[in-house]
Amino acid sequence: MKRGLVWFKNDLRLHDNESLCQAISQCDELVFCFCVEQDLFQNLDLGFRKADINRFKFLEQSVLTLKKNLEFLGAPLIICSGIAAEQIPKIVNEYNINFIFGEEEYASEELKIVVDVQDQLPKIDFQFYWGKTLYHKDDIPFEIENIPLTSKAYRIPASKESTPRVVFKTPTALNAVANVKNTNFPSYKLFGFSEEEYNNAIPFVEGGEDAGLERLHYYTFESELLTGYRWTRNRSEGLDYSSKFSPYLALGCISPREIYWVVKKYEERIKKNQSTWWLVFELVWRDYFTFKGMRFGDKIFKTEGFKNKDVAFENNETIFNRWCDGNTGIPFIDAHMRQLNKVGFMSNRGRVNCASYLVHDLKIDWTWGAAYFESKLIDYYVSANWLNWHVQAYEIYYTNPVNQSNKYKAQEFIRTWIPELSDLNNLQVLIPWEYDITNYPKPIELYRKWERSINKIKKDLG
Ligand code: FAD
Repeated sequence: MKRGLVWFKNDLRLHDNESLCQAISQCDELVFCFCVEQDLFQNLDLGFRKADINRFKFLEQSVLTLKKNLEFLGAPLIICSGIAAEQIPKIVNEYNINFIFGEEEYASEELKIVVDVQDQLPKIDFQFYWGKTLYHKDDIPFEIENIPLTSKAYRIPASKESTPRVVFKTPTALNAVANVKNTNFPSYKLFGFSEEEYNNAIPFVEGGEDAGLERLHYYTFESELLTGYRWTRNRSEGLDYSSKFSPYLALGCISPREIYWVVKKYEERIKKNQSTWWLVFELVWRDYFTFKGMRFGDKIFKTEGFKNKDVAFENNETIFNRWCDGNTGIPFIDAHMRQLNKVGFMSNRGRVNCASYLVHDLKIDWTWGAAYFESKLIDYYVSANWLNWHVQAYEIYYTNPVNQSNKYKAQEFIRTWIPELSDLNNLQVLIPWEYDITNYPKPIELYRKWERSINKIKKDLG
């Protein structure tokens, strides 16, 4: 009798899940588990948690959806909490498991969790399957150690020479071991969150495979928003200017291949245009960062980065805290940071601006900012976060947040997220320091390089 354990980690879905399908085909009976890692919510020296309450809640919603979908097929999900290397061996012993199936990890923290479990269970046959990217890592025309330094040098050959594999079908039967104990998701209290924090947390989108697949359907066939994506993707306000697939991709509630094949169907049936091309381009970009993260390992978390840069940051903690809280006095930055703090999400435009401002204007170590985003973002994905920060710190030109607030007509967005400015007109709300506004902070500093943008705002809107 072959008994397998399917260990879900960042692949919280039944569709397009190779390790799940392999477990079903190779074993007579299966047990299913997820472990909430205690360290994920630990307090960092920087003064915030590694993962904050919105991430907790989004994870809870996603795991509970998985549990419901497994139960529908007659299989309970064991949800344990603490340290996987202590919890998984207990499950293995209790249910006489011979095999463990899971998605392959690549980043050091995630790998350590896996290796620690393997060390505790030397007799178990572990099988891991790759499922994180659009193009399978074995199908790209590069060895990982040769992943190019520029996205173009990766993207063009990869797109020419690789095709996403077909998706694995959602299973209809799971061969679950009978009488497995049912468990609930652990309480937020176990991780030190208060009732108030938990009740006030409102992740920007609801977690889970069902919500992810619904979002995919909505953004494509239902609303046909995808047709305009190319021209709306740089906005900041609301749900519809971009896909919002990232939180679901981060926890594996949807797979990039599932998105790709739905986009291909959309191109056949509704419209093929620059927007459909661009969405796939973004998924290829995400792949590129994944493979680049594999190439450079822990260097992507270090201040000097994988380019070994030697930059003397000033690292003023009071200023850093003002940035975190959305109290810098620059409305375009503060509105985005306040949105991040409240709902765990920020547009790409916001991320670019907030990162560039922190590093190039406030002269604060980019790894502090990246750690803060890691704490807050419900779509936190290791390579996408740390390598996008690396780009902002070392690989791209400066972004002027005053100019961008005008270029992207951010007035409504600012009024929504900064109540102190909600009564200001279109001109004042972009440059409130020029007026007699007392309940909103004055800028940390006004740079001479912003003068032309400020004058342009006055000219455009005055
Ligand atoms: P869409 O515009 O609809 O794009 C579709 C998908 O393409 C996204 O869901 C995402 O998976 C992928 N994608 C788009 N842009 C990028 C990009 N620049 N890099 C990698 N993948 C991309 N994205 C994350 O998924 N997790 C992160 O932790 C993360 N941190 C970031 C930090 C900084 C400083 C910056 C500048 C960007 C970061 N991004 C991150 C990339 C990007 O901002 C988000 O993927 C995007 O805003 C998510 O919204 P969406 O799903 O509506 O994106």
